[in-house]
Amino acid sequence: MPAKPIQIENIRKTFPGVVALDDVSIEVMEGEFFTLLGPSGCGKTTLLRTIAGFYNQDAGHIRVGEAVIDKVPAHSRDIGMVFQNYAVFPHMTVAENVAFGLKNRKIPQKEIGPKVTRALATVQLSGYEERTPDKLSGGQQQRVGLARAMVIEPRLLLLDEPLSNLDAKLRIQMREDILDIQRQLGITAVYVTHDQEEALVISDRIAVMNFGVVQQIGTPWDIYRDPANEFVATFVGNMNIYGGAVIDSSVTEDTRSRMNIPQGRSQADVRVAFRPEDARILPPDEKVSPDDVAFDGNVEKTLFLGSDVIYRIGLGDEVTLTVNEYVSKRSQLRTEGDAITAVVPRAHLMFFDTSDGARIREEA
Ligand code: ATP
Repeated sequence: MPAKPIQIENIRKTFPGVVALDDVSIEVMEGEFFTLLGPSGCGKTTLLRTIAGFYNQDAGHIRVGEAVIDKVPAHSRDIGMVFQNYAVFPHMTVAENVAFGLKNRKIPQKEIGPKVTRALATVQLSGYEERTPDKLSGGQQQRVGLARAMVIEPRLLLLDEPLSNLDAKLRIQMREDILDIQRQLGITAVYVTHDQEEALVISDRIAVMNFGVVQQIGTPWDIYRDPANEFVATFVGNMNIYGGAVIDSSVTEDTRSRMNIPQGRSQADVRVAFRPEDARILPPDEKVSPDDVAFDGNVEKTLFLGSDVIYRIGLGDEVTLTVNEYVSKRSQLRTEGDAITAVVPRAHLMFFDTSDGARIREEA
């Protein structure tokens, strides 16, 4: 069977006074777990609802394989949806909830029972057939929602923040379960979240959105390690990011702290950024390598997390640098007030244009 990607082509969607989606183009491959990630109000839900057919776009097209589905009504789009608020029917048993979509599609009665049994086994709810949703936990209700969306074997599964009403521990467990089920069924999934860690863990690829505009599409690794602009760099994960003052003070005779600003730019044009885990504290007996840039400061806070330790280091003028180090048996924890030098490999510095946040890549 030929692969049928979902193509979202130049979609624009406005509400009175708001451009919710501005020329959004995304291609989701068959069998892919694709995530829309961004802050509240960036247009994630609007895009999901447009794909589902609950909203009509002002411009652009949605294609499944070669077929344009713009005019296909929601109930004929062959899409399963899982919502944040579970949306299970309270007056129906678990089995009736899961059977609902099959009955609607006029699936013969004798096929419904086995399909429901299989779907409930997949979400680990065998034995709960006769319960009503008020006797289920939040996580179990969301599993019913998942079983109900999957049992119709849709071409596309859309999930709108399905874990956000669950407690932290259950979220972590359920995100793995959702991924396992998606892989097992080989179903194409588009997942909405504002939780960047969830997006990194669960996705084959991520589209990061802001103000209705796609900022970057890439694998979790690309998005985290190679962000396209300052918004993506700072929205996904933690970042040390500095403008003028820190960069200015590095332009000294002291080559160990000098940053090599991209050619043709001045200090005022750029911000420099690096991940806390790309920095480390220089042991007292080690010299700064020419491949590293050095920052001298004092430990303001030591946050010991067990496996990691986070240092907040004051560089003066209220500028703080964060270093995240693994803890090993040989680690020696620094304490508040210690004078230390943090070093970052020059290869891990990223530069962004001060005017528009675009990434400045060094010319080779
Ligand atoms: P959240 O994470 O808070 O759900 P989101 O990224 O899903 O946010 P959307 O719900 O898609 O964002 O909203 C995008 C923009 O469109 C927002 O500015 C929102 O206020 C606006 N919007 C969404 N739905 C409507 C509507 N039905 N009528 C008017 N404006 C809307």
